[in-house]
Amino acid sequence: MITITERLKSATHRVAKAAEKCGRDPKEITLLAVSKTKPLDAIREAADAGQLCFGENYPQEGADKVATLNDPLLQWHFIGPLQSNKTRMVAENFYWVHSLDRYKIAKRLNEQRPDALPPLQVCIQINIDEEESKSGIKPQELMALAHQIAALPKLQLRGLMAIPRHSDNISRQRQSFAAMQRLFNALQQEFPHVDTLSMGMSGDLESAIEYGATIVRVGTAIFGAREKK
Ligand SMILES: *Cc1c(COP(=O)(O)O)cnc(C)c1O
Repeated sequence: MITITERLKSATHRVAKAAEKCGRDPKEITLLAVSKTKPLDAIREAADAGQLCFGENYPQEGADKVATLNDPLLQWHFIGPLQSNKTRMVAENFYWVHSLDRYKIAKRLNEQRPDALPPLQVCIQINIDEEESKSGIKPQELMALAHQIAALPKLQLRGLMAIPRHSDNISRQRQSFAAMQRLFNALQQEFPHVDTLSMGMSGDLESAIEYGATIVRVGTAIFGAREKK
């Protein structure tokens, strides 16, 4: 049996190798351990091995884990689809949201973010391959939404997130990441402080890093396969 600690080490190594290969400093890239559907024990093992950033997809499951583990060193990122009736759980329990794609949700998060907490760090999710089944906005909708979000005091716009269409064809995959990198550069022209490009998962983190990813979201490669939810 390969342990989570060993898998974490090899995921960290993959990130470092990929960074090195394209002349980037591995320190620019954060490995986010996606722990959705995984038990608390698994998260604790990863945390004991030094992993501090965790990603969750479901508001209730995530909020329960944050409360139960109750460890101020852990940094929780919400990366799943978010409905209006679940925003409070996210505003009160998470440090980051990667999957923001509607002003209505942004406004609610802003209203519900407790004053005692720092601003919620947010990325706008882009549906880069314009797939029916995926959340996220169209690239041409980005600037308008970014300006609206930037005006909300309890949110801090950090950058962009995408889940490109799954493809075994490396050059197709690269096209999606390259399109995200161009969009991110355009966003930075308008908002010079944005610094986060969240893309790349267990299967494609190397290409994502080649195109400027600063957070890679890795589940399976760290925690093993998930049961279908
Ligand atoms: C599940 C999930 C991941 C992790 O995917 P793996 O292929 O298991 O690494 C990353 N990002 C999002 C948004 C996810 O829902």
